[in-house]
Amino acid sequence: MNCRTLRWFVVAILVCGLAGAVLLPVPSAQAVDTTSWFRLLTVDTSLAISLNGSKLSARAMRIGETLLVPFSVLHQAWGAVYAVSAAGSALTIGFRHAVWKGMSPTYRLDLLDMPWGVAPVSSGGQLYIPLRELMEPMGAFVGKRTPSGEVVVAYSTKWQKEPWLRQGQLAQVEAIDQIPVNLKRVATIHKVVAFTFDDNWDAVAAVRIAELFHAYNGHCTFFVIGTNVRMHPEVIRTMVRLGHDIGNHTHSHPAATNITEATFVKQIQACEQVLNGMGLTSRPYFRFPYFAEDKHLMQIVTDQGYVTIGSAWTIEDTGPNWSVAHSIATIRRFISPGVIFVGHANNMMTYNAMKAILPELAGQGYSFVSISELLTGR
Ligand SMILES: [Zn+2]
Repeated sequence: MNCRTLRWFVVAILVCGLAGAVLLPVPSAQAVDTTSWFRLLTVDTSLAISLNGSKLSARAMRIGETLLVPFSVLHQAWGAVYAVSAAGSALTIGFRHAVWKGMSPTYRLDLLDMPWGVAPVSSGGQLYIPLRELMEPMGAFVGKRTPSGEVVVAYSTKWQKEPWLRQGQLAQVEAIDQIPVNLKRVATIHKVVAFTFDDNWDAVAAVRIAELFHAYNGHCTFFVIGTNVRMHPEVIRTMVRLGHDIGNHTHSHPAATNITEATFVKQIQACEQVLNGMGLTSRPYFRFPYFAEDKHLMQIVTDQGYVTIGSAWTIEDTGPNWSVAHSIATIRRFISPGVIFVGHANNMMTYNAMKAILPELAGQGYSFVSISELLTGR
């Protein structure tokens, strides 16, 4: 290689290197976390990291009193993106930016200078970020479990826009992290009822139901099947736009009791991934197809970061003897404050039944809530 070629070679490497430095952590559309629920990150005293109860391969680092986690963990948990430029480093979570230069002991969050404790550290090809020092000013809940000494960080980017969600969602921390819950109703003195609709086989019925609840200034919850979401993404967008909750009902609706554990996990994850591809999430609510469930399967659902949502009553909109009148009679009979009803977005008859009963229930003073509203006590 002569001198001139070598010079170009060096320039090329420099350019690639610079491009790499700038492009490597490029913010991209799918990197922004739009999860409607918080993610729970825990670091135990041996520095092992778990996300929603699942252990990650990455490990934390401790420098003095400061606990640092790899950037990749922040990306996985809250969609953090990282960019380097001549002006410095920027770490973005949702629409909040932490900006700093080199080994500066502080970073700028919005208009405030915040202390790092120790500046971010590069080690083993990873950038380690002080966890509490970054996440607490972002608005996260940071706590320590006793007696284990485990550090717990709960956060959702949705809290940035809807800060009132924080309190209600935090009240569920223990339920999500520890105990498999099969929620069927909520004890409340308020006249609220949560209608839920599974499957979304009939795109037209699903949209009509979504619009109907909106017309009554209410919300409902749709437990969707991944393959149907893929076929009719616009239906899901309408549901989300109207403020309804979207829950996970697996990718193709198998009975969980008839498949292997690994397949069941894949079914949950595949449904989630279809929604993630649209910038949405099915977290944190899951409903078993056919209610085919047991304690072990519910633990798997919990480990995947979901709450199992059961139902106190079905509106009996399936089966050979189903009719609009029968469905209405069932709802009249079993309506009570805090109850969760299950129906199906599979047929216009379900829509017709809801259209007939909602004005009656509204007249009795009921309001129609999504599962998250039911849990936050709207
Ligand atoms: Zn179903």
